[in-house]
This record gives sequence, structure tokens and C-alpha cells, in this order.
Amino acid sequence: MKHSAETRRKISEAVQRAYDEKRLVPWAKGKTKADDPRITGFTGKHTDKTKAKISANRKGKCIGNQNATGHTPHNKNKPHPVHTAKWRKAVSKANSGPNHWNWKGGITAENRLMRSSTKHKEWSSAVLRRDRWTCQKCGYKGRALIAHHLKPWAKHRSLRFDVSNGQTLCRSCHCETHNPRLGTGKSKPPKRHSV
Ligand SMILES: [Zn+2]
Repeated sequence: MKHSAETRRKISEAVQRAYDEKRLVPWAKGKTKADDPRITGFTGKHTDKTKAKISANRKGKCIGNQNATGHTPHNKNKPHPVHTAKWRKAVSKANSGPNHWNWKGGITAENRLMRSSTKHKEWSSAVLRRDRWTCQKCGYKGRALIAHHLKPWAKHRSLRFDVSNGQTLCRSCHCETHNPRLGTGKSKPPKRHSV
């Protein structure tokens, strides 16, 4: 279940009020390791000597991202022990063509030809024209619209150039159609959005 924005605001206010009225106290406040086993980190105060040490060590470093400055990755400019050029080539060979999990029997060349054909272009513009250059899912109008095949291109050869099997979609709705798990990052389809 998700709280509405209104409910979330109310909860946040109630918690804030409880803190203000001292009804709610952070559980770790004023406690040390001896008081509560949940406290595992450093809870005391550093001595000036320790502070100076920490400070000197941090100088010139970007805290939080050790790779940004003042730190050289241990493997920089060193050859990878396993992923050598030879290894890469072998893996690439072992996983390409008919060995690839998504190999569909060498249809790419044929598809490329078909998809770039005049016939396909005509089909695509007929679909877009029929839908008045508007995404049929979110109502987006503009550039980069795609004529989507309702019944998949690969499985329904006879419907490849059937305008009734086409649907105008914007890029993000098209992406969502094919990869519902990826989604578009939108919670609600807006009237207009960039593609
Ligand atoms: Zn759309």
C-alpha cells in the first residue's frame, strides 16, 4: 500500500510534533556502546591529535568517492589477468551467431532489408497518418513516433504490412510495450513528454 501525499505530510508533521514535544527521542541519543548493543560505531569524541591525523589523510581527497581524486585504482593500466584480448575473442565467438541465446535463425539480414524497404516505409507512414501522428497510449504528438506492430513482426509475416496491425506509439511507450519490466520511469503518462 502507498500513502497519498496528503497522508505522508500528516505522518511527517505528527512525527515532527512528537520530537518537538519530546515525546519521541532518537533511540541512540546520548547512549554509548555500553548502554545498547545496537550501537557499534564510534560514539565518543576524537582527540585533537586524531582529528589532525584524519584531516591530513583527507586533504585533497574527494570524500565519498575515493576514485575521484587522490586515489589510483590498483589495476590501473595493468592487463586483466583473465579478460585478455584472446579470452575476449574466444568468448565473443562462443556466444555469437547460432550460439547466441537470442539467435533466431539468421533473420537479421532479411529483416534489415525488409524494414528498410519502401513497402515498410509506406506502411509506417500510413499507420502514423491514420493515428494523426499521435501516440495511441499517452497522446504524445511530435517527433520520433514509431509504427508499432500489434501482432509481432517476427511471428505474423502476413500482417507485416497490414495497416490495421499497426499502432502509433512514442518511443517511451514503444519501449514499455516491448520491455514492460523496464518501464518508462513514468508513474502516470503525461500529456506530452520528451522522447
Ligand atoms: Zn507514448
